[in-house]
Amino acid sequence: MSRIASVLLPMPLPEAFDYAEPEGMELSVGDQVAAPLGPRTLRGVVVALREAAGGNRPLKPLEARLEEPALPPATLEFVQWAARYAVDAPGQPLAIALRGARAPRPRPEKRVVLTGAAPARLTPAREKVLAAVDGFTGAPADLARAAEVSAGVVKGLIDEGVLRVELVQPQAAFPPPDLARPRPPLNPSQAAAAQALAAMMDETGFNVALLDGVTGSGKTEVYLEAVAHALAADPAAQILVLLPEIALTQAVIARFEERFGVRPGEWHSDVAPPARRKVWEAVAAGRCPIVVGARSALFLPFANLKLIVVDEEHDTSFKQEEGFIYHARDLAVVRGKMEAAAVVLASATPSLETLRNAETGRYRWLKLSARHGTAQLPQIDLIDLRESPPEAGRWLSPPLVAAMGETLARGEQTLLFLNRRGYAPLVLCRACGERLTAPDTDSWLVEHRYSGRLVCHLTGFSMPKPKACPHCGAVDSLVSIGPGVERVEEEARSLFPEARVAVFSSDTVFDAREARRLVESMAAGEIDILVATQAAAKGHNFPNLTLVGVVDADLGLRGGDLRAAERTYQLLAQATGRAGRRDRPGRALLQTYAPDHAVMQALAAQDRDAFVAAEMEERELAGLPPFGRLGAVIVSSENPQALEAFVQQMAAAAPNAEGVEVYGPADAPLALVRGRRRKRFLVRADRGVDLSAYLAAWRARVKPPASIRVAIDVDPYSFL
Ligand code: ADP
Repeated sequence: MSRIASVLLPMPLPEAFDYAEPEGMELSVGDQVAAPLGPRTLRGVVVALREAAGGNRPLKPLEARLEEPALPPATLEFVQWAARYAVDAPGQPLAIALRGARAPRPRPEKRVVLTGAAPARLTPAREKVLAAVDGFTGAPADLARAAEVSAGVVKGLIDEGVLRVELVQPQAAFPPPDLARPRPPLNPSQAAAAQALAAMMDETGFNVALLDGVTGSGKTEVYLEAVAHALAADPAAQILVLLPEIALTQAVIARFEERFGVRPGEWHSDVAPPARRKVWEAVAAGRCPIVVGARSALFLPFANLKLIVVDEEHDTSFKQEEGFIYHARDLAVVRGKMEAAAVVLASATPSLETLRNAETGRYRWLKLSARHGTAQLPQIDLIDLRESPPEAGRWLSPPLVAAMGETLARGEQTLLFLNRRGYAPLVLCRACGERLTAPDTDSWLVEHRYSGRLVCHLTGFSMPKPKACPHCGAVDSLVSIGPGVERVEEEARSLFPEARVAVFSSDTVFDAREARRLVESMAAGEIDILVATQAAAKGHNFPNLTLVGVVDADLGLRGGDLRAAERTYQLLAQATGRAGRRDRPGRALLQTYAPDHAVMQALAAQDRDAFVAAEMEERELAGLPPFGRLGAVIVSSENPQALEAFVQQMAAAAPNAEGVEVYGPADAPLALVRGRRRKRFLVRADRGVDLSAYLAAWRARVKPPASIRVAIDVDPYSFL
């Protein structure tokens, strides 16, 4: 009897397609296959096999089974679960899971091997080559170098047929981590946490722990210990460490190298495609024990995943907002469950979602309450900008400038934190009052002085800064309003001309290498004042950094959404937590116009618990996460009439369900993006409601015309 193979294709199709399995192909679930679709042939994955019932219309046969690693069952299950949860097509997460498999192969490498033929004559130089070639992997020129002879000697042996050059597909080599390398002794609270994690991993199956420790308490050391424990228990174990920033992956990779003497597999958008393919194949074959990566590493085809660490678990960069929308921390817990693996969520400022799970006992709660050794948490003071304003056209207040001067005089470093790229967030015409925006998007153009351009941070649109106002034509009337990091850098240079000042933002540091270089140069004391966005404010250790100045502590609170206070608290606790490590006490100064705000008060008093308790209470009263659930539906179109008609139809079609409220449609705060008008619905549901099922049912009731796009965001973090 012939069989039917259901094949999932990595594209936004609603379901898997059926194909006939050709005689002798002997497929298994998870196999990668070449499947015809219209005139094209696509790579797909077999998700189910069944006997053909006969009598049905004939199906197209599959073209081939690819000689490439199959997706393990748990990876496949995870992909399908994620799609259902996100109310999206399963081909979307599949495309992420196959990203490494579809990347171009690395170029084959030349390798010299012995053919077995004896050389006609032996010279001392030839003897050296023959001695060196045993076990050698490399090209002829490398062999000549290794044997310390001229290239001609090797060429002569090749021409004579004694040696042969083969082309081989290079494989990434991930040697086993060395678990016996010396490491610093853990302090008592680290040892207790490490022991609790070890005990948790020894119980078979899935478990989650929150590793909750103030900045600098040594959480990384603790999870490195957990990694060592997992590998000691099962040398074939695989471990995934997820990080929110590429800059941070570099620092953590360095820590792994130090601890285990080997480099982990690296996975993020900056890794070149051929290198990614090597990691993907090594992960699938179980040859890569440790992967350190960004959120999409969660979709790698692990053969034997035993531990997932999500470091800085509260970080909103774990939320993927475009294409397939998912939160890597939440999905990490799901993947851990499917793989029967342990999950460790680490943070100094855990998300309320995670804290709630810890409070209710669903997650184990491991605390490190003090900094390691003699290091102290920084003293945090508020600068009330109403009382101590900066001079006109300046952004640093006198108390902050004085503290910077003292820090510089002591030979110590300052971090000025401002979460805003570029020179000025707004360009305004003094003549007509026009605020410059991109032509097709409702968001201000940000001035960048390094590049001399005005940039839309939302869409990437950019243009040279015009001489005249595009609206009224007035010449030299455009003024830059407010500061970005470039402007603060300018001010720091003019205040302290002798200081070495650098900027760290995604515009000045655009790849992992550059990030590593800047972090190293800061750690080596080659920079006196670092002006940085959040790209540098997370996780790094700078031993000589003793002052953190937060230029605009109120920034994140403006236009606030549900998590504005929580996010501001987390970000500023992280940023201020960079100050004072080792033996030097640190200080943080927060410039604010709202010193009485609960967030500022909690930061100054270093009282996270009081802040969290107050925030939890508000959320509980409103039935908001983590006490209730949210879903967003974003509908967009280039045609405003069609959009209006469709959202009305959608509103009427919303199913009635207990414990669910639908708000909207309303104009999205970003009402125009890339020429498309946008409207939003917000759905609030009680915790027990299957929100994904509700949203799927709703969407099934309406059929959007081709001009309309409907995006669903389950557990939204952005409300724009
Ligand atoms: P966290 O991840 O909690 O911010 P880290 O693990 O980065 O903290 O540790 C902060 C600093 O303290 C690092 O420089 C680290 O090397 C050092 N450290 C942590 N634990 C120990 C230990 N047991 N012995 C020596 N140094 C330690």
